Formats: sequence, C-alpha cells, structure tokens
Amino acid sequence: MQNVESFKRQDMGNGIWRISEGNPWAGLDEYVDAYLVCGEERAVLIDSLMGEGNLYSIIREITQLPVDVVLTHGHGDHAGRELKNLIDHGLKVYMKLDDYEIYTGMSNKDALSRESFLELNHGQVFDLGNRELEIIELPGHTPGSIVVLDRKNQLMFSGDSLGSGTIWMQLPHSMPLEEYLGVLKVLEREVADLDDLVIYPGHYYQMRERLDKQYVTDMRVLTENLVSGKTRGIPVEDKGTIERFPNTLHASLGAMYSYCYNPDNIMK
Ligand SMILES: [Zn+2]
Repeated sequence: MQNVESFKRQDMGNGIWRISEGNPWAGLDEYVDAYLVCGEERAVLIDSLMGEGNLYSIIREITQLPVDVVLTHGHGDHAGRELKNLIDHGLKVYMKLDDYEIYTGMSNKDALSRESFLELNHGQVFDLGNRELEIIELPGHTPGSIVVLDRKNQLMFSGDSLGSGTIWMQLPHSMPLEEYLGVLKVLEREVADLDDLVIYPGHYYQMRERLDKQYVTDMRVLTENLVSGKTRGIPVEDKGTIERFPNTLHASLGAMYSYCYNPDNIMK
C-alpha cells in the first residue's frame, strides 16, 4: 500500500487546494496532483491521484461540504485506486466515458465498473455556490480528455491536456493532430477574454513558468504548423519513450511549449 504520508496538500488560495502524490521510483516528492475546488455550498475534487492513501481524510480536513469528483481523463495516475474509497464514502465520480476502456486497461483487476461513473459533457456546469466549474472537452492526449474552467476566477485545471511539461500525443489512443487543432481553437475562443487566466496542470512540478492564455494560443500555433507541414518534429532522445513508442517525434515552440507525437497520426 502507498505510504499515506506521500499525499501532501498545499493551500493555493481562493478556495483551491493542491493535493500531491510522489513517485518514489522516479525519486519525486511530487509527481501528480489533484485539486480540491471549494465553493460556498459544494466542492469538486479534480482527479484522484494514483495510489492508495488518505485522500478522503485530507478532503474532510479541508471541508465538510458535499464533494463531487471530476476526472480530467482515464489514465491511472489521475484516475487511481482511491476512487473506490471515495465512492464508498458516497462521492459521485464523473468521467468522460470515451476514456473508460483506457481506464480499465491501465487499472488493476479491481477497476470500477462503467456504471460507477457519471458522464461528462462539453459545457456541463458544476454549481458550487458563488463559483461555477465548466467542462470543456479537449480530446487529444486521450479521446475523453477534458479541462475544467472557472471563468469568474480565471482558473483552468488541465490534467495532461495542457501544461504538464511535454504533452504526450504519441499514445496509441491519442487523437490525430488535426482533430486536436480543432478543439484547441475552440478552447482559445473560450479563454479569449480571460486576461488573467492561470492554468493548473495535472503534473504541477513539470510547469516551468506560470501558464496563461498565451500558452493555449502557442499550443494552437505549434499544432497548426505541424498539421500544415510548416514545422516537423525531431526524433525524441528519451530512451524509455523510444522503446515504447518508436516513431515518436518531439516538437516545440520556444523552450516551453512542446509535445511528442506520432507522425503517422496527424490527419483525421
Ligand atoms: Zn495522461
């Protein structure tokens, strides 16, 4: 069992708590993050970390409000083994069901049934009382990836879709870049008026600088250039990535905006 001490929490202000899990195999004190977002009447936990620990206790130390769980996607480091415990405590778990097979493929034999999850849809709003969280679909990294937007407070919680270092788009289930480009354009329009936007990714430690709406635009430009052929990536150097995904190319725009992709998965 995961050492419960490895779940750490940080008060980010404005009713936001970051809850982190380390990765001892990688020598990281902080590897993946869940976020607890509190309104006046309800709260939402965004993602559930990967191992077993004291996530429910941490939530209850922070708030006694009713809590729903929203998963940014189905990968095992964001939709982990704590889900069963949260459901046993009566929390509802929402995930875009396009990711259900990915979730079961990456979970152990104790994966939860499809019926354990409630569906998420583009534009769906969680009213927390004087705070609303809106779901924006962003299929790319996985088909069921979403980001969560708090327009009033200009916050976005992006899972692995944006901001978690080099975005992995080379996975067998990642969407073609042309399709990803389409949804990035939608997202860019959604955040066009949010001049003070702050993006909180699912792997906070990989964020090298504060991410704002320009980051969304830069990702759109990079993707546009790859789809049009104006830019072509170079082979990745990371041995582990090459072993698992031999065709992977790495593309970047400046030092910050980068992702891995499969050159055979560009057009729809
Ligand atoms: Zn992921």
